[in-house]
Amino acid sequence: MKGGFGFLAVVRVLDRRFVFGIRLVRSWNGVSPQERFHASLIFPAMSLSIRLLGTSASRPTVERNVSSLAVHREGETLMFDCGEGTQRQMMRYGVSFALQDIFFTHMHADHLLGVIGLIRTMALQGRAEPLRLWGPKGTSRMLKRVEALGFERATFPVTIAEVDAGQPIQRTGYSIVAFPVDHRGSTSFGYAIIEEERKGRFNPDLARELGIPEGPLWGQIHRGLAVTLDDGRVIEPSVLVGSKRKGRRVVITGDTRPCAATIDASVGADLLVHESTFGDEDAARALETGHSTAREAAQVAAGAGVRRLLLTHFSARYSRDASDLEREARSVFPNTLIGKDGMEIDVLYQD
Ligand SMILES: [Zn+2]
Ligand SMILES: [Zn+2]
Repeated sequence: MKGGFGFLAVVRVLDRRFVFGIRLVRSWNGVSPQERFHASLIFPAMSLSIRLLGTSASRPTVERNVSSLAVHREGETLMFDCGEGTQRQMMRYGVSFALQDIFFTHMHADHLLGVIGLIRTMALQGRAEPLRLWGPKGTSRMLKRVEALGFERATFPVTIAEVDAGQPIQRTGYSIVAFPVDHRGSTSFGYAIIEEERKGRFNPDLARELGIPEGPLWGQIHRGLAVTLDDGRVIEPSVLVGSKRKGRRVVITGDTRPCAATIDASVGADLLVHESTFGDEDAARALETGHSTAREAAQVAAGAGVRRLLLTHFSARYSRDASDLEREARSVFPNTLIGKDGMEIDVLYQD
């Protein structure tokens, strides 16, 4: 088959951002929509990014709002924590209000109060779609109070679910797994977002060389099925498809002391978002208040062998200048970033 390949730039508007994706397509003359669909399955690349909405501990400052972050995965938005003022941060940084899930790490006010205002705005906008609030065991009473304060008149259903540690919440292509962290004896969770393994890499050059027509057959082979060609040859998928590839893993700690559970959940993670309330000079205070220093967060990252560490949840004293924290963390784990409100991090596949 001599049909030439063309690269088509696909421009999508996603959460009010322009996202440029390149998708490999062939010149479609005489190709049915079904075949197009199959061919587009051959090179799936799901976008995954994190948007920090608030990076301050306990109270907002001029530079930083209190805790919240949004995870965008291929058009879907998940929110983790929702401190006071988060809805305004969403507007500033172009995060869609159409999100359906808010996961809470724990019930301290600086991670929670923003959901009241957010629900009120959603109701004013006439939202009809359900909103799910997730929290650690024992938090549904608090979340019901939040819901009651958020509504004058309910326009959409809010469901409240308590999450069990270690019990995956399954989504299409990934799961969310909570793990217990160590924060002042409260029931506090971190969350790991774990993508399923991806199919092995398909070799289009070899497929063409073997004279396998592009289209549905490629898709079948990529899905692991042997195919018989018109000339009677049987092509086994192992000829054209490499071994399965790792999905991505993002871990979000919420508030915590450095702990083994975070290391376990973060082994091989592509991105660890770890709290870093204090610097070395306040190590005793970190211990006392159930928080981590930047150096301790870096030790966790190094212990788990993550690819990147993103620090957040800074005490107000570091709000303007967190360079001490950056230096202390990087002395242990060089690939450390200091989070800023509005910062967006793309999480790319390793292969
Ligand atoms: Zn906090
Ligand atoms: Zn806390």
